[in-house]
Amino acid sequence: MLHYSCDACKRPIKTDTDVRHVVKIEVFPAVEDQSCGCDEAESLAADADNLEEMQDLLERLDESDEATGFDDATRSLRFDLCDACRQRFVKNPLGLKNGKQLDFSNN
Ligand SMILES: [Zn+2]
Repeated sequence: MLHYSCDACKRPIKTDTDVRHVVKIEVFPAVEDQSCGCDEAESLAADADNLEEMQDLLERLDESDEATGFDDATRSLRFDLCDACRQRFVKNPLGLKNGKQLDFSNN
């Protein structure tokens, strides 16, 4: 029998009594240069003033491409959560502090 534990609170999840929730998160750069990159380069090239700028940009793109690679920016994460943590997660997936000012007391 497989043993799972909650990735948030580390509590063991007994699959016979508890419900195990799986959270999958995919992180990837939303780069849309596949089709429109050429158009952009063309329009920049048409403007003579921007020619240097464009070459500069292309050089920098080359460098960053080599430096980071595409795989590095892409992450596929998977977590197991117990029911309590699942409820907390769906309310606040990024773990942000919520805007409620609890110490906004009337003193
Ligand atoms: Zn948990």
